Amino acid sequence: MKSIYYLRFHPEITKEPIICNLIKEVAVEVNILRAGIDARKGGFMVIELGGEEASIKNSIGFLTKRRVGIDEISSRIHYDADQCVHCGACTAVCFSGALGMDNESQLVFAPEKCIACSLCLKACPLRLFSFSF
Ligand code: SF4
Ligand code: SF4
Repeated sequence: MKSIYYLRFHPEITKEPIICNLIKEVAVEVNILRAGIDARKGGFMVIELGGEEASIKNSIGFLTKRRVGIDEISSRIHYDADQCVHCGACTAVCFSGALGMDNESQLVFAPEKCIACSLCLKACPLRLFSFSF
């Protein structure tokens, strides 16, 4: 299985090789999708974890124990579905498959597939997407 998470790094832990140790100590695949970290200010990382369900659970435990804040990516992207006019413009830029049109030409949003590339933020003419990073 694969799951995408948003990680928060406090300045006190930015110098620790946490992701490196995660890969060494837990049998899990780590794909870094996006990162913005400053050693003095802390930062964030969007990662995809792949492997057995137990490995992903162990990874979350590993990160939590090392004071890394961890949220599912779906809790970080906000979409104002009530205002959507289903023009489909956002689907053209979403290469992760999080945005698509159904058989009735209605937008379907699967936030668990989002990789936080932020391309839809500008692609939507009504600016219906936002991130809380
Ligand atoms: S940020 Fe937008 S365009 Fe990028 S993967 Fe997520 S939903 Fe798709
Ligand atoms: S671009 Fe905006 S209005 Fe158009 S389908 Fe996507 S979310 Fe809806």
